Amino acid sequence: MQRFEGRVAVITGAGSGIGRATALRLASEGATIVAVDLDREAGDAVAEETGGSAIAADVTDEEAVKAAFAEVKDVYGRVDVAFNNAGISPPDDDSILDTGIDAWRRVQEVNLTSVYLCCKYALPHMREQGRGAIVNTASFVATMGAATSQISYTASKGGVLAMSRELGVQFAREGIRVNALSPGPVNTPLLTELFAKDPERAQRRLVHVPFGRFAEPEEIAAAVAFLASDDASFITASNFLVDGGISGA
Ligand code: NAD
Repeated sequence: MQRFEGRVAVITGAGSGIGRATALRLASEGATIVAVDLDREAGDAVAEETGGSAIAADVTDEEAVKAAFAEVKDVYGRVDVAFNNAGISPPDDDSILDTGIDAWRRVQEVNLTSVYLCCKYALPHMREQGRGAIVNTASFVATMGAATSQISYTASKGGVLAMSRELGVQFAREGIRVNALSPGPVNTPLLTELFAKDPERAQRRLVHVPFGRFAEPEEIAAAVAFLASDDASFITASNFLVDGGISGA
């Protein structure tokens, strides 16, 4: 028996990096995947790879998120897993002295408001079913104070942690688990594009990883699969760090 047999998983930011790897992982364990991404082509490609379907949507748009979860319910009749993962890295200079209000707002919208919206529209379906698992992507920087000079990014991920704790506690008695997953640095376009502009930054970051390397997206996907599965049946409201030991060092 596969862990996600008969289950429907909605994954945002599924077109690339951690989202794509998680879509492939959950599909390999029997899940039906709904790949949500702003990038229609990338989402469609993942739908094809997983045998699932895709919804092109901007997760900062309330109507689009509401419609996406309604569509999943209409088509599949259920929402078992919501992996709220779409996110962006901040523009070049995200130190508090330099970051502009528009850039700050955009990062909060994509990284934090989207998680609020996806939880808001996934939860009623899960409530009706009396079960469900939500995993929200945060980041190790929200736990560490990593001195990354990324004020808007770090603050947005801190919000994701707090929201996941709050919802995990609130919905535990309804059979719904809500956890935050905090990756360390992962080899995805989000990170490689940032480091391509500033290779020294990659070296500075690498020094803090006890393993001496960045994670591969599949290593994060394995942890998401665990948290979303019944193997994590007593885990909710947690901050699940998959950071290569950074926070322990
Ligand atoms: P990525 O850039 O490879 O993938 C992000 C995906 O999200 C893309 O497919 C993009 O099209 C989609 N997306 C962006 N804005 C969207 C929007 N408004 N609506 C819908 N889709 C949108 O990035 P990744 O590294 O896989 O990042 C996934 C998550 O992991 C993000 O929340 C990121 O902050 C977090 N994270 C990444 C790292 C890392 O080192 N890569 C570390 C910690 C946390």
